[in-house]
Order: sequence, then C-alpha cells, then structure tokens
Amino acid sequence: MQAYLVGGAVRDELLGLEVKDRDWVVVGATPKQMLAQGFTQVGSDFPVFLHPKTREEYALARTERKQGHGYHGFSVYSAPDVTLEEDLLRRDLTINAMARSEQGELTDPFGGRADLEARELRHVSEAFKEDPLRIIRTARFAARFQPLGFTVCAETMALMRTMVAAGEVEHLVPERVWQEIQRALHEQSPVTFFQVMRDCGALAVLIPELSSEDNFSAALETLQCVHSAEGSTAERFAALLCALDERDCTSRAKALKAPNDCQQLARLAAAFLPEIGKLDLAQPDAGHLLELLENADLWRRPERFSSLLSVLGCALGAGSQKRLEPLESAADSAQGVDPKTLMEKGFSGKELGEAIRSERLARIAQAVSSPTS
Ligand code: ATP
Ligand code: MG
Repeated sequence: MQAYLVGGAVRDELLGLEVKDRDWVVVGATPKQMLAQGFTQVGSDFPVFLHPKTREEYALARTERKQGHGYHGFSVYSAPDVTLEEDLLRRDLTINAMARSEQGELTDPFGGRADLEARELRHVSEAFKEDPLRIIRTARFAARFQPLGFTVCAETMALMRTMVAAGEVEHLVPERVWQEIQRALHEQSPVTFFQVMRDCGALAVLIPELSSEDNFSAALETLQCVHSAEGSTAERFAALLCALDERDCTSRAKALKAPNDCQQLARLAAAFLPEIGKLDLAQPDAGHLLELLENADLWRRPERFSSLLSVLGCALGAGSQKRLEPLESAADSAQGVDPKTLMEKGFSGKELGEAIRSERLARIAQAVSSPTS
C-alpha cells in the first residue's frame, strides 16, 4: 500500500502557504490492514482513519457516484483496486486534486498546477455538478485566494449557473450552508464570496433579500468595513443583513440557522439602523435613547452592545459617524448608574427599578444636552 498527501496540503505547499492540516489518501489497502497497523477508524460513511502517532487523517481511495439529491445521495466505492487518479477525479477543483507521494513525487492528472499558476479555480470534471456544496466551496476558495489573484474560470462559472438553475442549491441542508457561510465570513476577502455566490445565482436562492442592487451593495460595503476591523462572526453576519428591514432580517437569519448570537445581533442592527436615522442630532430625545438602550439590553449585554455599535458604525459609513454619538454618550452616562448606591438609599423592588430608570434618564438628558465635544 502507498500513502499520498492530498488536497489542501499539496495546494498550499505549492502556493508557498503554511500548511495547517494534512490529509492523506491510501491506495491498495483494506480497512483490516489499516486497523492492523494501529490506525483507528473515524468515518462511518466511508473508510477514514487516524494515524496512531500524528493523528492525521488517512482515507482509503474511493470513488463516488451520485444517487438522488443532497448530501446523502452518494454511493461510495472503496477497495484496494481504486487508483489514486480515480480518487482525485471525485474532487471539486483541479487545485485541490493533486497528490504527493511520500517520496515527493507530484501526481496532477487534471492540470492543478497549471491552474495554480494561472490563478484559476476550475472544476475537475462534470461530476462537479453532483454536489451543490461544491458551488459554495468554490465561492469560498475564491474568497480565500482573491488576494493572490484567483478567479472562478468561465467554464466553472457556467456549470455552477446550470446547477443553480436546475434547483440543486435548494437541496442543501441549512447546517452545511451555514458552516460554509461562517467560514466564508472569515476568509481573506469575504465580499468576494458573496460576489461569486451572486454571479452564479446561488445567493438569490439562499439569501434572496440581497438580490436588489441596493441591499447587495450596502451589505458588501458594511461587511468589508467589519472585516477590516477584524470583527467577530456575529458582527460580520449582522453587517450582511442589517440593511434589511427587521422582519426580513430576523426571518432570514433564522432560516439560515445562524447561531443565536448571530441572529440576535443581526436583528438588533436591523432594528437600530432606521432608529439612528430618525434621531434629531441637534436635540436628541433622552427618552428615546433610553428606550433604545433598553431594547439592546445594554446592562446585561454590554459586549453585544459594543458589537452593535461597530456594526452600526460600518453600516452608516464614514460620513455619518456623528449619528452614533448620541447613542454612545447615552450608553456611557447610563452605565454610570449604580443600583447599589440606590439600594443603600433605601430603594427596593419596583421602586428601585423606577429609581434606576429615572436616574439613567436624567443622566442621559444631561449628557446629550451638554455634549463634551
Ligand atoms: P482547507 O484548507 O479549507 O482545509 P482543503 O482543500 O483541504 O482546504 P477540505 O475541506 O479539508 O479542503 O477537504 C480536503 C479535500 O477533499 C479537498 O482539497 C478536496 O480535494 C476534497 N473535497 C472536500 N470536500 C469536497 C466536496 N464537497 N466535493 C469534492 N471534493 C471535496
Ligand atoms: Mg483540509
């Protein structure tokens, strides 16, 4: 039997990038032989093993054939007679379909190396269309390698459009889609991901609200800004959806099965944006500001509130940062109210709540009527 380094490790090494995880494919072996050599089996759908020392993944060479829709629609064939080339053929992109033997020899049946040099993301074969997840992966690699000059080649873009038009994207389960979106949000150029998703039509299926030119460009500008500020996943996700109205934003975030913190921040940002637009900057209404802070649950969720401010700052754009000032100074002054001092003064129960609220209101009113700047 022979083991080959495959996929991302070979690609990244040729690009001169740091190799993070190394995947191997094993040709000419049976599961029994692997177990006898001390490997432990991890895959239940297909034979994947962990190396006894390095814990790296070793998969037996396999072929896959499509049967029906979705991710479970594959029939997998793995046996010692499956060749390295056959295994590479089932892979998504040519740059991901190269192998290196333990002796250092490169196997590259589909021109992956040439595509690396030409900076092109190209599908390996027509079998690409058997798994719609590959569309999203391709968009993600476009996002990752955008700074290096990679683009999706015309033939692959055409194939992706055909797949989308055939309704393939609708068969993806939200969990898998979310996993890819979450990764895409942290790639080198997240906006490129959404541009490719839009170009091939997949975005209109997964986030149809971003189909309009206005929403799309607002989303991408905000996302780019949050990305430059090295924002969290929730901040990036909220950036994407905050230009929508609160209802659309909430239902889309839910349909995408984003984690709770992402859903909540997106909803808050979408709810706040129009409110910020309504504030009278010359004479901000302290009651309205306090209400906004209460809606954001500032006191229990101060970190989320500062995330909210970052997202709103990006959504407003450089020329409109002043619009956030009343909210920021209201938050600063209201946070200075210490319930303990009021308790010591004898307030308790409902009265304490009211005292806290009126103290906060008074401080906000004072802060916004005498701005420090
Ligand atoms: P990363 O640096 O993100 O790990 P990678 O290329 O190693 O990138 P993995 O998701 O780790 O990506 O998958 C390893 C390899 O398996 C890929 O390089 C590709 O050859 C193949 N692969 C993974 N998912 C698919 C898929 N859905 N369809 C076809 N091939 C796939
Ligand atoms: Mg990998």
